[in-house]
Amino acid sequence: YVKQQGGNSLIFYTEDMNKETVRRLEIEGSLRKALEKDELFIAYQPIINTQSRELSTCEALLRWNHPELGLIPPTTFIPIAEETGMIHEIGYWVLKKACKQIKEWQNDGMPHLCVSVNVSAHQLQNNRFIDEVKSALEYSGLEARYLYLELTESAMLKYASDTIEMMRKLGELGVNISIDDFGTGYSSLSYLKNLPIHHLKIDRSFIQCFRMDSPDFAIVNAIMTMGHGLGLNIVAEGVETKDQLTLLTKIGCDFVQGYYVEKPMQPDQFYSWHQNMKVY
Ligand code: C2E
Ligand code: MG
Ligand code: MG
Ligand code: MG
Repeated sequence: YVKQQGGNSLIFYTEDMNKETVRRLEIEGSLRKALEKDELFIAYQPIINTQSRELSTCEALLRWNHPELGLIPPTTFIPIAEETGMIHEIGYWVLKKACKQIKEWQNDGMPHLCVSVNVSAHQLQNNRFIDEVKSALEYSGLEARYLYLELTESAMLKYASDTIEMMRKLGELGVNISIDDFGTGYSSLSYLKNLPIHHLKIDRSFIQCFRMDSPDFAIVNAIMTMGHGLGLNIVAEGVETKDQLTLLTKIGCDFVQGYYVEKPMQPDQFYSWHQNMKVY
């Protein structure tokens, strides 16, 4: 006999799995059409300079407005795009769109605004990627120095030698490289001295409970010292409170990003937010 509870939870588990599989297939099928049907858009989240408290950069965060399923987060559909190879097309679209948008804003009252674009390990592995970056810059008219590409530590761990070669080429092109989610990747730190990297973005998990007396304080402080010693700028992700901003500023963090400043916004929202930007 199967226990009542055990039996039920087994059934639920199976049903959930089926639902999940169906949903995945659904997503995979409709993702192919999402680009053509104009369902993808980019939200922009500000990154501010802790010293001047001015807007420095915005991170381009991909969104998918699905006609039936509603807003699907990138953490759901990016992995599917990676598995199916659609990430190349989608990634190139994001790159072009974001560069064009930032160039427009530069011409419209934000002359030194930079943009930070997330790049998947799969894109980096593709030989065409360097040409895509060049094309996106030419197409938009954006200067390379205003573009940051965000790579994760795990992206560099995979496919090591190809990736290193690609990063060198990107460096020669004049674009900047940020290490995203820094501190969560278990990788060796030696790449930091050998590669053209400009920013470290401290992962949100270290900022969440960040206080003077928390273990995270020691970690964040150590990343700061090491990063600055290597000539890198430090960005803290996921800053949600004034206290976090104050403490991060005090210990010399260069830039912050997070809900305390603002959530990711639609382009027109971002523009008007900047018009009325308050002092943080
Ligand atoms: P990420 O690059 O680390 O982006 C930061 C994530 O943290 C974003 O989630 C952002 O909305 C969220 N966030 C920002 N500030 C706060 C805060 O104060 N508190 C909390 N709780 N969260 C905050 P989002 O937009 O859902 O993106 C998730 C991930 O999806 C990104 O993490 C990135 O890895 C990936 N992603 C987004 N857009 C793209 C893209 O165009 N290409 C690729 N390859 N990946 C992307
Ligand atoms: Mg990022
Ligand atoms: Mg991040
Ligand atoms: Mg993150």
